[in-house]
Amino acid sequence: MVRAQISMVMVLDKCIGCHTCSVTCKNTWTNREGMEYAWWNDVETKPGIGYPKQWENQEIYGGGWVVKDNKLRLRIELKEYRMPKMDDYYTPFTYTYEELFTQEIVDQQPTAEPINMITEEPIDIQWGPNWEDDLAGLNETGSLDPNWNGVDKEIYLRYKDVFMFYLPRICNHCLNAPCITACPRKSLYKREEDGIVLLDQERCRGYRYCVQACPYKKVYYNWKTGKSEKCIFCYPLIETGQPTVCTWSCVGKIRYIGVVLYDENRVEEIAKADVKDLVKLQREIILDPFNPDVVNQARKDGVPETFIKAAKESPVYYMFKKWEIALPIHPEFRTLPMVFYVPPLNPVITTLDEKGLLSASYSDILPKIDELRIPIKYLANLFAAGNEEEVKKSLRKLLAIREFFRLIEVEKLNRSEAGKVLIDNDLTLEDAELMYRWLALGRERWIIPTRKTELTLKIGERGGVRIKW
Ligand code: SF4
Ligand code: SF4
Repeated sequence: MVRAQISMVMVLDKCIGCHTCSVTCKNTWTNREGMEYAWWNDVETKPGIGYPKQWENQEIYGGGWVVKDNKLRLRIELKEYRMPKMDDYYTPFTYTYEELFTQEIVDQQPTAEPINMITEEPIDIQWGPNWEDDLAGLNETGSLDPNWNGVDKEIYLRYKDVFMFYLPRICNHCLNAPCITACPRKSLYKREEDGIVLLDQERCRGYRYCVQACPYKKVYYNWKTGKSEKCIFCYPLIETGQPTVCTWSCVGKIRYIGVVLYDENRVEEIAKADVKDLVKLQREIILDPFNPDVVNQARKDGVPETFIKAAKESPVYYMFKKWEIALPIHPEFRTLPMVFYVPPLNPVITTLDEKGLLSASYSDILPKIDELRIPIKYLANLFAAGNEEEVKKSLRKLLAIREFFRLIEVEKLNRSEAGKVLIDNDLTLEDAELMYRWLALGRERWIIPTRKTELTLKIGERGGVRIKW
């Protein structure tokens, strides 16, 4: 069964951590009572423990899937885990801004004090979303980041400025979404037409199994309505061919949206696979939209022509499947997440010579893969279930594109001479042009098909493996 999925790639080297995406999302969707603490889109700093604290550690929260007796089981089925509390996210606060205008004239500067947004009492702020960036909390929390596994972290924690990068996060609209499976009310569902995972507010009774089961902690409980809520991939915009608010407003132009076609029949088989193969197999489940057999089957399965056309131009298809430069976040959770990340090279710089100048030798201008500041193993733990080869493959291609254009612009080589570096890295001249256009210039960052009619919705019947409660 061929299905269409709308999905996203984020290119991490381009994220400047400005939080415009988070703020525009909040102003659009969660700027109301009960959701003060909730950021459907948040931006975290890595290394770090994120929002809510230590969300990646499933020994604490029990999210995602495990394989037991060759069957996929929700981790929360097997043992009791704890629910994230508001303090794990943060106690939402604002400031008494009005006092800046109403205070009597005094000698000191007027101040706006922080107050708890829920109790409206003064608050001593202890934590917030992306606290580790604002207060450089790495020395306190850095050792709890699970992505150090297999890395000699002490050296990085001692010299804590060696590397950092931003990690923006939204719901991944997973192919094998445990939030859907965990809901006894069948409130969550995956849309037939584009795979966006939604939560029906009429059905929800606030049991919060979805909050626990999502290993990315991207379902939030609204304490005012008593129901859960989550990112809706801005579907009212998507339906009219427009990008999500976070994509539209992204200052770094890091976000790309496109359609991919995939083979729904293989979801369970792939989600159960050996951990080291998860990225490779997730690529396999994405189908080639240029293959006539795939297109014929897609038509038979009711995928609209506009989606098939969009799949052929999709930046997500190219970056994840064709070029293999994008990777899924924590594939070992076995959710088949459909938001992908191009890992950071950060920073692309060679060593300085004794006088503090860049080395003049061409061969030293761009770093070698093993000399990059971010340990490959760290990135592999975050984006490839520990498989370093997947990360190396991506970084090698990103470096090859830079080297190709450098050889032309600086060394004045012609395109075919410079093109050797592309061939060595399984890329073509056309790939290089398209990558440059998308990644460097940031053109055509979204290819989104509009639609005329809604497809039939079978609530609770899609979204991966179902289990009986
Ligand atoms: Fe989104 Fe996947 Fe979490 Fe469900 S399990 S809320 S689809 S990230
Ligand atoms: Fe990063 Fe874009 Fe968000 Fe700014 S708006 S933090 S650049 S993802």
